[in-house]
Amino acid sequence: MDELVAQIIDEENAVVRAGLLRGADIAVTHMQTPGNRVAHRISCSSLRDWFDRTLAWPSYSRQRLQKDRNFRPALPTLMTRGEARALIKLRSCKTCAPNIGGDEVPRTSTLFAQGLKSHHIGRILADEHGVDIGTIQTVIFTRSSDTEGRFDADVVTVETENGTVHLEPRTRMQVRTVLETPTAIAREAAVRTRVGLPVQD
Ligand SMILES: [Zn+2]
Repeated sequence: MDELVAQIIDEENAVVRAGLLRGADIAVTHMQTPGNRVAHRISCSSLRDWFDRTLAWPSYSRQRLQKDRNFRPALPTLMTRGEARALIKLRSCKTCAPNIGGDEVPRTSTLFAQGLKSHHIGRILADEHGVDIGTIQTVIFTRSSDTEGRFDADVVTVETENGTVHLEPRTRMQVRTVLETPTAIAREAAVRTRVGLPVQD
C-alpha cells in the first residue's frame, strides 16, 4: 500500500511541477465544485497540507485507497492569473489575498496599530523593525468603559495564522503585501523544491 501511495505522490508532484513549469501562480482548491472554489497564492500558509503530499495522505486516506483504488485526496489546481480570471465562480483566499486582477503594487506601509483597517486583511503585519508577525486575518478594536473623553481604541487585537496579538493603539507597525515577504518567498520555494524544481525561475 505504501509503495502504491509513494507512486501516486510522485504522479501528484509531477502534476504540480508541470503547473509551475508553465508559469502557474495561482492554486484553486475545490475546482470541481464551482461554488466552493477558492484562489490562493502558491505560497499560502493554508495550502501546506495540500502541497506536501505526504501530509495529504494520512493513514485514513491510505485505508480508503485500500478499499477504493481510485480514491485520491484533493489536489489544488494550478493556473495562471489569466486563467483564474476566466473562471466564472471563484473566491479569493482572505489569508493570502491572491490578487487575481494582477494589478497589485508590492509595497510596505508604516502606520499606528489603530490605523489597521479591514482592507489590510490578507496583508502581512510586521513590527516597526519589519519583523513578520503573520498574515492579518481579523482586526478588532476594543474600548473599555472607563475611557472618559478618549475616542481611540484601548486595545487593537489582530489575529494572524501564527496567533493573536494585542497592540497598544499608538504602536508603530508595518503592513506589507504578501508577495514580497521573506516568509511567502520561502514557502513558495519549499513547494518548488518538493516537486524537484530549482527555486529560481
Ligand atoms: Zn490562500
